[in-house]
Parts: sequence; structure tokens; C-alpha cells
Amino acid sequence: HAPAHFRALLEMSRFHGDKVFLVYEDEHLTFEDHFRRAATLAGRLVEEYGVRKGDRVAVAMRNYPEWVVSFSAALAAGAIAVPLNAWWTEAELAYGVRDSGAKVLIADGERAERLASTGVPLIVTRGEAPEGARRFEDVLGEVVADVKLPDVELSPEDPATIFYTSGTTGSPKGALGSHRNLGQSPMTVSYGFMRAATMSGKDPAAAASVRRVTLLTVPLFHVTGCFSGLTTTMFSGGGLVLMYKWDPEQALRLIEREKISTMIGVPTNAWQLMSHPDFGKYDLSSLTALGYGGAPAPPKLLERITENLPNRAPSNGYGMTETTALAIGNGGADYQAKPDSIGLPSAVVDLRVVDPMGHELPPGEVGELCLRGPNVIMGYWNKPEATAQTFVGGWLHTGDLAKIDDEGFVYIVDRAKDMVIRGGENVYCAEVEAALFEHPAVDDAAVIGVPHEELGEEVGAVIRPAPGASITAEELRSFLTGRIAKFKIPVHVWLREGELPRNPGGKILKTHLRREILGT
Ligand code: ATP
Ligand code: MG
Repeated sequence: HAPAHFRALLEMSRFHGDKVFLVYEDEHLTFEDHFRRAATLAGRLVEEYGVRKGDRVAVAMRNYPEWVVSFSAALAAGAIAVPLNAWWTEAELAYGVRDSGAKVLIADGERAERLASTGVPLIVTRGEAPEGARRFEDVLGEVVADVKLPDVELSPEDPATIFYTSGTTGSPKGALGSHRNLGQSPMTVSYGFMRAATMSGKDPAAAASVRRVTLLTVPLFHVTGCFSGLTTTMFSGGGLVLMYKWDPEQALRLIEREKISTMIGVPTNAWQLMSHPDFGKYDLSSLTALGYGGAPAPPKLLERITENLPNRAPSNGYGMTETTALAIGNGGADYQAKPDSIGLPSAVVDLRVVDPMGHELPPGEVGELCLRGPNVIMGYWNKPEATAQTFVGGWLHTGDLAKIDDEGFVYIVDRAKDMVIRGGENVYCAEVEAALFEHPAVDDAAVIGVPHEELGEEVGAVIRPAPGASITAEELRSFLTGRIAKFKIPVHVWLREGELPRNPGGKILKTHLRREILGT
């Protein structure tokens, strides 16, 4: 029978043989090592845990090599892999386990205690296994060279993954993705990288033959890490360098040590890398591509990359959990020409911008961005109402306000839920934030609506000044004058030491910020 997408990808990855696939600190796993371990664990899940097609197997851990082995094993066994957010509290993890109805949990020692109370069979790696749980290595047992994948009949339409959305605008929703969704991701991402490289003036043949060694700066439990990072590397035979946690200094060290060619993450990763006081002390010559996305990338970021890391190929990707990561991307000369655009749709995506009635709008007009294609997920797990509201007539309603220019380039204007409406005028937070980032003393910025009796809302900004810089609200306001319209200039400015609350997807948690600052 024809192999379904993930099993095809896994079987194909074996042709990369003894090339190094995963690097974590001083541990290395070749493609062959990974295949054998994943196939062995898949067999154990079937034989010892009774995992059958469509059962859920949840994974809750840091970016350890075992995350990848567990994910691959779950899919190879025909189960639905459920990556749980490792940042979640005990209650949130319990929600994920309950919501997904996981049959088996595979976790690291840090999360094992928090998961033990769910009563679901638990397999633990790196750390103590609570009573009743089994150790990962014990479950795996002997790993033999000629191990076969368990026999299971799967079609491309069968569900493969449940990823939880970031929970930026509400509680996280389980996004049910199929094998077809997953299967298209390496092509979509590879195409994006090639396009960014060639458009940056690189020789296409040279760009195609380079073995990518990717530094992954974001968690695997979000789609950027899993699809832009993991499955794409698996497909192309590159190397994936994993980090214990995001740390700019460690990233600089790893780029030099592992001769990283590509960094994949969120815009803040690239920003913080360049802001690090030791940035100039490392040899970063191997780094040729920087791919980031998942959160707004201010045009200032591109300017800083062009200045500090010249002749590289930066690219900005737009995607959602619901689009299996990358859906729209900008790179190369296009990105230099239109740094405020997220670029053009990937080769598999149709898009349109609609008014609140669902009618398509002409170029230049702002409305809700809708997407369609083989990367758009099947729906939300256990949430028929949210599914019906978000997936209408084959189109995914993104909740993002966007416009398209007459060359087809897409601009994200704001999240519909973030927009500030000041006396009937729309103020797009993302635009005000991008203007604030132009100021050299601004290290981070978040714009929020502040309740106002007469106007409904006023514009407020929370600013984290750059280390050693001093700035006043008045200076910021006069800086913005002439750059953006007067009614968009923040009336309230809060200067704040320390990092703004961001989720692992690099997005500022505005609900937290509003609660913290406004008590709402
Ligand atoms: P939730 O849906 O639970 O509120 P979330 O939407 O933040 O959380 P994700 O699926 O991780 O969860 O993020 C998708 C969103 O991220 C998009 O809808 C968009 O608002 C934002 N986004 C992604 N990429 C970009 C980008 N390149 N530029 C601007 N915004 C982006
Ligand atoms: Mg969302």
C-alpha cells in the first residue's frame, strides 16, 4: 500500500544515512539513528501501549532529541501526535491531556511530576520518573538495525497532529492537521528559502547544493519549530541544532561552533542576537540565511540585519498554527523593496481579503485575510463552534487584518482583536509599534488600547528602553510626530524595565499587559 505522507518522509529520511540530523549540546543523532529509534518506539507504542490508528500520543518536553523521536514514533504508529506546550502550568498541561484524550504521555523529568496526576501512562526522559512511570530508555529497549515500521494503513486525509494555538487572543485551541498538511510543509518552506536566497543575489545552484545546518531558536511544540525547522530538515538532509532554551549568547556560540547556515525563529531572536554585547566577538561567517516569522517583524529589523549581517538572506514568514506554519513569505530583493510586507503567498496557497460580510475587497483595502490550500488544517479538535466560525466555505478566516497591493504583496495591518478604535478611527498597533522601533532607544514596544470615556479608546504604549539608553514620553511623542498621524501617537506611555511578557511564539501577551497596566 502507498505510504502516507509522514511515513514516506520518515522512510525517505533514511537515505541521508549517517549524516548528522540532530545536535543537542554534545549529543549527535544521525538520520539512521533517528529512524531506528523512532521505528523501535513506534513498535513499543503499538505492542505495549496498545496504540492504534487515530489514538493520541502527547509529548511534553524541551527541545530534546527525544522530542523528535517521540513525535516521529507517534506518527509512524498511526497515532495523532499532540505536542503540548512545555511552558504550560500543571493545570494547563492537564487541560491539554484531557482535551486531546491522550492515551500515552512522553515527557521530560521537569514536566513528569506535573503530568503524573492525570493518571495517563507516562514515559519519562531526562530526569526522575515518578512512581508508576517508565523510563524512555527502558521502553525503547534494544534498538536493532533492521527494525521495520509497524504496519498501519494510513491515507493523506488521516489526522496527524494536534498543535495548540499560542493562546494570544484567548484560550489555546487544538489545531487538527492531516498527513497532507504535514506532507506539504517541507516543499513550502524549502521553496521559501530558495526564493529568499536567489532573490538575495546568491547563485541558485550553489544555494541548492549547500547542506543547511539550522539553529532552531523556538520550541518544537509550535508549528514554526516543527514544520519550518524539523520536517523540512528531515526532508532535505540538513542538520538541526537544538537549544535547551533560547539564549542569545548561546546562539552566538552555537553559530560559530556548529557552522550554522540558517537560523529559524521569531523576529525577537534575530533582534536580541544583534543586540548582544558580544555580537561582534563570534565568527558568524557560516550564517547565510535568517528566517523568522510568527509575529510582526518591524522594518527596523531588516535594516539592522542589512547593517550588522550584510549579504545574508533574511526572510519574513507569515503563518499560523492553522496553516501548518509558513503560508506567505517575503525575502531577498522583494523584502528590501517592501520591508513592511509579509510578501507573496506560498506556492500552495490561495488568498483573499474580505469585508465583514465576507465579500472580497479590491487591492489596497483593509479587511480580514482568508486563506485556502493543502496546508490549511482540518479544523479545531473538540471545538465545532470555533471550527464553523473560522473555516467558512473552504476558507480559513485568519482574524488578521490585511491588505494586498497591486503586485499581490500582502501587508498585515493588525490583529483584528488588537486594533484600537479611537473616536471611530482605526489605529493599528502594529503600525505604531513599527514606528516606535525606529527610535534607537527603543528595545521593545507594545501598543494597547486604553479605555477613554469620550473616545472609547486612547492609544497607549509600553516601552522597554534599550540598555543604557534614556528616553522620555515627550521625546518619543515628538519623534513620532510627522512619522505617523497625530491621532495615532500614544497619549499614554509607560516606560518599563525588564522584558515585555512574550509567549514562546515571540508575541507580546497583550492580555497580560492590559491586565498588568490597566487592571482589565
Ligand atoms: P491564538 O489563536 O490562540 O490567539 P495565535 O494566533 O497567536 O494564538 P499562532 O497560530 O501561533 O497563535 O499565531 C498566528 C498569528 O501570528 C497570526 O494570526 C498573526 O496574527 C501572527 N503572525 C504570524 N506570522 C506573522 C508575521 N510574519 N507578521 C505578522 N504577524 C504574524
Ligand atoms: Mg490565532
